[in-house]
Amino acid sequence: ASASASASSLALPELPGFDYQPKPYKGPLADEVLQKRKKYLGPSLFYYYQKPLNIVEGKMQYLYDESGRRYLDAFAGIVTVSCGHCHPDILDAITEQSKLLQHATTIYLHHAIADYAEALASKMPGNLKVVYFVNSGTEANELAMLMARLYSGNLGMIALRNAYHGGSSNTIGLTALNTWKYPIPQGEIHHVLNPNPYRGVFGSDARHYAEDVQDHIDHGTSGKVAGFIAETIQGVGGAVELAPGYLKLVYDMVHKAGGVCIADEVQTGFGRTGSHYWGFETQGVVPDIVTMAKGIGNGLPLGAVVTTPEIASVLAQKVQFNTFGGNPVCSAGGLAVLRVLDKEKRQKHCAEVGSHMIQRLNDLQKKHDIIGDVRGRGLMVGIELVTDRKEKTPAKAETGVLFEKLRELGVLVGKGGLHGNVFRIKPPMCFTRDDADFLVDALDYAISKL
Ligand code: PLP
Repeated sequence: ASASASASSLALPELPGFDYQPKPYKGPLADEVLQKRKKYLGPSLFYYYQKPLNIVEGKMQYLYDESGRRYLDAFAGIVTVSCGHCHPDILDAITEQSKLLQHATTIYLHHAIADYAEALASKMPGNLKVVYFVNSGTEANELAMLMARLYSGNLGMIALRNAYHGGSSNTIGLTALNTWKYPIPQGEIHHVLNPNPYRGVFGSDARHYAEDVQDHIDHGTSGKVAGFIAETIQGVGGAVELAPGYLKLVYDMVHKAGGVCIADEVQTGFGRTGSHYWGFETQGVVPDIVTMAKGIGNGLPLGAVVTTPEIASVLAQKVQFNTFGGNPVCSAGGLAVLRVLDKEKRQKHCAEVGSHMIQRLNDLQKKHDIIGDVRGRGLMVGIELVTDRKEKTPAKAETGVLFEKLRELGVLVGKGGLHGNVFRIKPPMCFTRDDADFLVDALDYAISKL
């Protein structure tokens, strides 16, 4: 379906052609997998589709279910499959390494971890040249928080409301979305106003939100803090881009209070925003610590913390060790990801396809009142649905209905935000303009059938 055809008609949108045949699937079917999962895996709040979806194969931006049906993956395994499912270059890199050596503790030398650390450091600005490898975003933020507290000699961390930074005992404290908050001690964490241009009380006025940070420092702490952590586009929170200029103001305040500034690039890094390689660059700041995971390994369990030699020196007092961090297979895969993103010019591609998709979504917003806000950058896009544009009443039930309908049409999107009324569009970065058109046409069609 073309952009122009869809805008005026209600023709069923068609998935773009794709030259790949999935292998015949002979494994267990959805019901059996679901029963086993219910019996043996912990309970999860995570949204299942009403009819469980058994995904058995992936190729680039597409996923295949047990019947061989193809879906457009517009969520990338929660923003993780950056280059594409089973990207051939990454497969080659991890297969080759797996055949030679799958694991070597970091007490021996292995070139993969050193080569990869060098390549990752070369992507960082300023003095951010010391790399620690971990296995997830949660672990990365744990380590960053430890560094901030040791370096500053203070405990108090500042984080944004509506943030998600992990699910471990410590990082749950940084997270500020009720869905994730277990009733456990949260440590010394101060949650400040979220500079959300759509829903925030001060609109896009970064100064007023920053004043709230200063207020917390002045009256909620001794005047000294350990650090501040934020994403530049809140991912789980619903693709909320911070008001322009906010981080610059806040970084100054935090530095004056003796703290370090941490950029959580778990979702925003590696060129996904299109305009820049790192999300923090969109706000013109250089953090003291950068944490990353998800897209860093195209699906491999990998995370990293990058900081300055000065901050890293605080960990030299004791042993800092992570058994799997920088494992040779993950390092080979991570290095291949960096190379693929460069070779295929994915940052530029994200900028082009993302701005086309945002433009089409802006047009769709004019047609459907339920679309309250379209936002984001590159291939990190949020569509917030409301039942009343003026009151911004969250259209939670409708979001659920549309979520199911999109799946029926062959599009898998993310759902989230504080009120559960935001579609999160964060596909593999090989997502094409035709894919974007199909997604918008499918959404148009689904809304028209509400
Ligand atoms: N930080 C951000 C911004 C995230 O979105 C997530 C996960 O969604 C995390 C940290 C935690 O990462 P992980 O699930 O790999 O522990």
